[in-house]
Formats: sequence, structure tokens, C-alpha cells
Amino acid sequence: MNEDSRELEIIYNYDALLDRAYSRLPMKRTSKAYDIPSLEVDYVGDHTMVKNFGYVCDRVRREPRITMRFFLKELAMPGSLDERNNLIIYRRVTSKSLQELYNRFLETYVRCSTCGSYDTELGREGKVWYIQCLACGARTYVKPV
Ligand SMILES: [Zn+2]
Repeated sequence: MNEDSRELEIIYNYDALLDRAYSRLPMKRTSKAYDIPSLEVDYVGDHTMVKNFGYVCDRVRREPRITMRFFLKELAMPGSLDERNNLIIYRRVTSKSLQELYNRFLETYVRCSTCGSYDTELGREGKVWYIQCLACGARTYVKPV
């Protein structure tokens, strides 16, 4: 066996291994509503903290700053992000109203209106914003936050 054919054989074996590895993986499943974490809300004095805000934003692939902007604008209240990207609102807001707002955010800025998947990205073309679905490829234009 010369060098070339040995190299080919190695590549072939590697491909076969990969094929076998992939065939054992479960089918790629898209995120549904029940995969999306709820908000964990806590209070410190007059402030409301969303303790898992950073994690939630990460999970739904949204920038914490943009998600925060949506919340603060809708609530018409001041607030900020802490060092772990968790949301602090400088007022008391019930957990229920935050969850309702969060559901509205998910419906408007995360969920693909074509296939219902939550595996999407928020894209921008200049001033135009859109949801790009990673499951079905559909693009939905949305109002800028
Ligand atoms: Zn979709």
C-alpha cells in the first residue's frame, strides 16, 4: 500500500465513524413553549429583580440589553442590568405582570410565526428588524424594540 491509498483509507474510516456517530444522535428537535424557562422574580426593597434574566436571554438567543429595553419601555419604569446580565427594575412589579410581558416578548420577538419554533435569531438590516427562524428558515419582520 502506498502513502496515498493509506491516507484515503484513514479518511474513509473517519467518515464512517462520523456517520455512525451522527446516526445515533436523536432527531434535532425544535424548541417549543414548554422548553422556555419562566422568569424567577425576587424583591429587594422597592426593587424587582429577575434573577435568571441573563440565562433566559441566552436561552432564547436575545441580547439582554434589547430584552431589557422592551421590558422597561412597556413598564415605563427605570432599571438596569447587573454584572450577571440580570434585570433590576427600580420599582415593584408583580411576578404575574412580568410573566405576561415576557410572554408578549416571546410571541412578538422570539416565536416563529410560521412554524411556532422558539429557535430563532433577531436580525437587523439597517432600521428593519426581523426574526430569522433556525428551524424552518422563515423570516418575519418585527417592529424595532
Ligand atoms: Zn419557523
